[in-house]
Amino acid sequence: MLDRVDLVILGSGSTAFAAALTAQELQKSAVMTEERPIGGTCVNRGCLPSKNLIGAAKIIHDARNPRYPGLTAYQVELDFAALVEQKDAVVHDYRKKKYESLLGDHIRVEQGHVRFVNPHTVEVDGKQLVGEKVLIATGSRAVLPDIDGLDRVPYLTSDLLTVDEPMELRELPQSLLIVGGGYIALELGQMFSRFGTTVTILERNAQLLARGYEPEVGRTIASIFAQEGIQIVFNATAEVVRQEGSEIIATALVTGRERQYRAERLLVATGRRPNTDNIAIERAGVKVNEGGEVVVDAHLRTNVPHIFAAGDVIGNQHGSEMATPVGSRQGGIAGRNALSSEPPRQVDHRVVPRTIFVDPEIAVVGMPESAAIAAGHRCWCNSVPMSLVPRAAAIRDTRGMIKMTADADSNEVLGVAMVGHNAGEVIHEAAMAMRFRATLHDFIDTLHVFPTMAEALKIIAISRFKDPAKLSCCAE
Ligand SMILES: Cc1cc2nc3c(=O)[nH]c(=O)nc-3n(C[C@H](O)[C@H](O)[C@H](O)COP(=O)(O)OP(=O)(O)OC[C@H]3O[C@@H](n4cnc5c(N)ncnc54)[C@H](O)[C@@H]3O)c2cc1C
Repeated sequence: MLDRVDLVILGSGSTAFAAALTAQELQKSAVMTEERPIGGTCVNRGCLPSKNLIGAAKIIHDARNPRYPGLTAYQVELDFAALVEQKDAVVHDYRKKKYESLLGDHIRVEQGHVRFVNPHTVEVDGKQLVGEKVLIATGSRAVLPDIDGLDRVPYLTSDLLTVDEPMELRELPQSLLIVGGGYIALELGQMFSRFGTTVTILERNAQLLARGYEPEVGRTIASIFAQEGIQIVFNATAEVVRQEGSEIIATALVTGRERQYRAERLLVATGRRPNTDNIAIERAGVKVNEGGEVVVDAHLRTNVPHIFAAGDVIGNQHGSEMATPVGSRQGGIAGRNALSSEPPRQVDHRVVPRTIFVDPEIAVVGMPESAAIAAGHRCWCNSVPMSLVPRAAAIRDTRGMIKMTADADSNEVLGVAMVGHNAGEVIHEAAMAMRFRATLHDFIDTLHVFPTMAEALKIIAISRFKDPAKLSCCAE
């Protein structure tokens, strides 16, 4: 059976949905394809379930560590199975509201594994779909590192968060060994530790978040994790894993020396790779790069003119990030470029705010100092501790720091990195300002509500001209 539509979309994640909605706005027909629960990674096994459980873990942690003299610590009882059940209910509810309810005559999903048959045709479980235009939005999955024995032991990936699939984790492990120290390892590591699991993280580099982040960020979060009792082993490469009784034993090279780590469960969090090796992409003639990412131009067009790609599947090309809002924006752009006769739109990744939802949050936007220098700027940059921010002091949570990078000649702010309470909210002020190419003076001259964490931005900007430790109220 042949089904002809204006746009065939491989995938049904946030990127795919944004493209399908754009098709609907343009009064074109679109069909998505999906082999797992519809809605993709973010809603089913990524952003939403992780932030739900991380929120619960924070309640437990804060109750045990009330920070204020005069408040007594309290042991919140944890029923992990019930917590997982409510997480699933939240995911089901959100998936219904934001994904399933949008389906109709113009936006459909064909369920099953999708593969190209030729550049215009895909096959889903024996059914062929023909698209005038095609969008590849198959997302990414966990990379499995080359560790001897990994295929012979049970291991978890971030899919442990998923709903409606057998790999969902329903029992809390007593101990967890995490291979990898990126954002997923940090978010899940702290979460499990706060639930009561003993957590060890094996990080290949000498510092956390070595790529794309200011070094101060990795150092700050490593010391906060250490205070919480999370063990991070640096310069550690897991080489062999095996099962012994109910435990997994990993042998790792740590700064050249063999060490062994054992835990009840093993979590592999060593990055993500695009889903392009399972869709017979060669039959469409679409080029992928060495990392398996679909090669696109700034209009998200592949080398085959009627085929576009967007979201996680394009990796970091053109400054892109593997994050839901980035994919959704790209899905809309790709859909429009594919289906409309308007001049094509380009992606713009100059200002992409990002947050790692550890506690305190890590939030960044723009360039770190090293990237600004590499881009040819004469740089001014500085960092100050959160203890200089009155709000942080008032609520007795002075963990963290803020760093700002600016062009030393024009004072234009090029990047901000913050580790601190509510950093994920504060970063939007910096993002909006940078969108309009704000200078240090714009941050300084904007009145900030006192006392707020957003004052951190004003204080760090002032630090170019004055000692920020010698300011009176309201950073004046
Ligand atoms: C643990 C975790 C936490 C995260 N937290 C955040 C966060 O807090 N904020 C944030 O912005 N981002 C977060 N992300 C990243 C975010 O989830 C992704 O960037 C986003 O989901 C990518 O959307 P996408 O539509 O491009 O791909 P996906 O959402 O992955 O959708 C692609 C879909 O295509 C389907 N598919 C692939 N191959 C085939 C095939 N051959 N046949 C049929 N279907 C196929 C897949 O099953 C998948 O459902 C997180 C990710 C993880 C793993």
